[in-house]
Amino acid sequence: MLFNALHREGSNLAMASGRLAAEAIMEALEKGDLSRKGLGGYVARLERSFVLKDMKKYRDFPKFLHEHKELFTTLPELASHAAREMLTVNGVTKKQKQGAIWRSVRKKMSLMKLLRLLWDGWRAVK
Ligand SMILES: Cc1cc2nc3c(=O)[nH]c(=O)nc-3n(C[C@H](O)[C@H](O)[C@H](O)COP(=O)(O)OP(=O)(O)OC[C@H]3O[C@@H](n4cnc5c(N)ncnc54)[C@H](O)[C@@H]3O)c2cc1C
Repeated sequence: MLFNALHREGSNLAMASGRLAAEAIMEALEKGDLSRKGLGGYVARLERSFVLKDMKKYRDFPKFLHEHKELFTTLPELASHAAREMLTVNGVTKKQKQGAIWRSVRKKMSLMKLLRLLWDGWRAVK
């Protein structure tokens, strides 16, 4: 479960947690206490490390993705349309192109929906 969906990473989290686990085991062996309490240094190390801090920061991000299917349907379509519009050389000014892009966005998404998406996205990664 050590996976950061936003940054598409997880092997770094897995490696760091493995190192922390090894350190905790070494500590427990030195103390001669391999009980749950003796190995508790693992959790304490994880809490202090970037691993759990990052996992906690992005804990709501998967829910955000599940709740906003338009991230995988409407938005890629709009991004593709915007790129095609901007990259096509056809004598139309950039300002007119921006207007056309904005109108196609508004046709597909209400302002409320757009604001909701931005707000939910911000809250999921803040
Ligand atoms: C297709 C794909 C591409 C990826 N690309 C990247 C990338 O480019 N960069 C990156 O940083 N990350 C990438 N990741 C994510 C990365 O692989 C994971 O975040 C990372 O492997 C998580 O490590 P983990 O140790 O937490 O879990 P895992 O690697 O899933 O290890 C958990 C282990 O526990 C075992 N297990 C589960 N239940 C039990 C049980 N009850 N008893 C005993 N063993 C059990 C499983 O078999 C497994 O071996 C990718 C993942 C996928 C699927």
